[in-house]
Amino acid sequence: KSGFVSLIGRPNVGKSTLLNRIIGQKIAIMSEKAQTTRNKIQGIHTTDKEQVVFIDTPGIHKPKHRLGDFMVDSALSTFNEVDVILFLVNVAEKRGPGDNFIIEKLTHISTPVFLVLNKIDQVHPDELLPIIEDYQKQYDFDEIIPISAIEGNNVDRLLKVVNGYL
Ligand code: GDP
Ligand code: MG
Repeated sequence: KSGFVSLIGRPNVGKSTLLNRIIGQKIAIMSEKAQTTRNKIQGIHTTDKEQVVFIDTPGIHKPKHRLGDFMVDSALSTFNEVDVILFLVNVAEKRGPGDNFIIEKLTHISTPVFLVLNKIDQVHPDELLPIIEDYQKQYDFDEIIPISAIEGNNVDRLLKVVNGYL
């Protein structure tokens, strides 16, 4: 199995940390291929059964000027070209304008979108359900997966579920 996975989320939610956790020592490549010039390939996760390319989509934040608009549009057009979109949020912070901006941009996407609730090490387990319910009201996510990228909790499960969509 092989496929492409886009990682999105506002700054500091833990995208790079998750990528490092997934790719770990097995980092195979860091390059730009013709097919994905608009994307930044962050790493390829390879096992004997699968090869998954993780890409960081740049420019998904509220633009401050027209050029920014163009960059957002160009990043958004890649959403339909991947197999899975991982939308990362920080569970330890309230949903904010940065999160809402991205959710708004997801509305006409047919690609499966996972809500990845990161930094669960920073909240009490009881706090998780209301947070999940809040996000579910905003968007019909295909999967909701709580993780701690820094501690590695549930990252294996995330990869397994991604695999099921390839
Ligand atoms: P990015 O901007 O989305 O790429 O976020 P980074 O991966 O750079 O992480 C931003 C900050 O959050 C860093 O200080 C990370 O160490 C921290 N961080 C990332 N994941 C976790 C997590 O699961 N738990 C905690 N407590 N901190 C995290
Ligand atoms: Mg980063």
